[in-house]
Amino acid sequence: MIRRVDLRGRVAAGEVSDLQAEVNALVPRAVFDVEKALDVVRPLCLDVRHRGLEAIREYGEKFDHVRVEDIRVPAVALKTALAELDPTVRAAFEESIRRVREVSEDEKTADIASEPAPGGRVVQRFVPVQRVGLYVPGGRAPLASSVVMNVVPAQVAGVPSLAVASPPQKEFGGLPHPTVLAVCEMLGITEVYAMGGAQAIAGFAYGFDGCRKVNLVTGPGNIYVVAAKRFLQSEVGIDSEAGPTEIAILADDSANAQHVAADLISQAEHDPMAASVLVTPSEALAAAVEAELPIQVAQTKHRERVLEALNGQQSAVVLVDDLDQGTALVDAYAAEHLEIQTVDAEERAARITNAGAIFVGGWSPVSLGDYCAGSNHVLPTAGCACHSSGLSVRSFLKAMHVINYSRDALEEVAGHVVALANAEDLPAHGAAVSVRFPGAI
Ligand code: NAD
Repeated sequence: MIRRVDLRGRVAAGEVSDLQAEVNALVPRAVFDVEKALDVVRPLCLDVRHRGLEAIREYGEKFDHVRVEDIRVPAVALKTALAELDPTVRAAFEESIRRVREVSEDEKTADIASEPAPGGRVVQRFVPVQRVGLYVPGGRAPLASSVVMNVVPAQVAGVPSLAVASPPQKEFGGLPHPTVLAVCEMLGITEVYAMGGAQAIAGFAYGFDGCRKVNLVTGPGNIYVVAAKRFLQSEVGIDSEAGPTEIAILADDSANAQHVAADLISQAEHDPMAASVLVTPSEALAAAVEAELPIQVAQTKHRERVLEALNGQQSAVVLVDDLDQGTALVDAYAAEHLEIQTVDAEERAARITNAGAIFVGGWSPVSLGDYCAGSNHVLPTAGCACHSSGLSVRSFLKAMHVINYSRDALEEVAGHVVALANAEDLPAHGAAVSVRFPGAI
């Protein structure tokens, strides 16, 4: 069901870059050929640019199998969706929103003022992006929780104009999934569009009849969404290219095999390309998890895609010599989600430098983070956690330096500016300072 990679005695925790290459060769991510998807997405985006709304309607008809005349979701549909939302689900979303909002509020940064010389002030001012398009996936599963994860940090950051897009669903008359609409209504989002995939990202990036161009697009999505984000980067800001989900678990004998198996399956449920990787020095745990997986997979609803994900080259049970080697290995792997289920989980977590999010101990499964931990579930995949962060309030803020020097402060440093300008053969730069102090410099 899941392949075993035995690294005992094989991998030395040497240079991180070496280890990264080694890990990527041993447990390669699923082939996610964004460049190939670009062949489809490039002309599609340009078509949306030229033909706007009609092109979006046509691509919706082609890929989502439903033609939608009114791409903008009417207010009444949002209200109805919330009125009809199961009260238990509503209560769960309310709690999820409360927790994500609290974490986001705590993350807000005040402006930072410095005075590197008397009278010379530099303030780092944080300002929200003015208009953001938030993408909520809806192909395979209606990810209404992604509405929370996108909208709440954007609202806390103070973004004044927010629009949401999610694919039209044939079974709901061309509207996005009702739970997605209900959560938009809960969060006070009134600008919602029934459009999905690359056409939605292009619609946001270029704008179209009835929808103003946005400055930034955020949110996860499939390969076409990722390809569109990559293609449209000169037109619009993007958060990251969040691809197929992945979980790595570092565990020892203290971990519960049933729990570990359930966690591996929970992320495999997202996508046949999802990666589920267990790293352990414990032969006993590896064997127990391998025995547990088929039992739980047989009982799970989406067993076909779970099996495909677990059987893929991207998933494995990796046996290592010891926990230190395992720690170096998962750090080099840079998983989107990293669970640490060891006796010394907190200390090990503190040593990790590369992960989208770290789930510490046996009582912090990834599913908690997907919905109700208060953390964000839009996270860097494919090893991008070694240079990128997940979605947060910061994703929706720009930092601006505001420079304010007095006459004396400028005069005090003028000689240095002129010297550096001359060294770079840019005398006009120096002149812009010396002209202010005739005869002095
Ligand atoms: P989606 O909304 O991203 O994609 C559906 C859209 O794809 C459709 O509206 C359609 O227009 C378009 N499409 C389908 N076939 C196409 C084709 N042949 N050519 C062009 N366009 C086509 O929903 P999804 O497919 O369910 O994908 C969601 C993805 O988001 C999953 O891979 C999941 O793992 C990922 N995800 C990632 C994170 C993260 O933080 N990394 C979080 C949640 C979800």
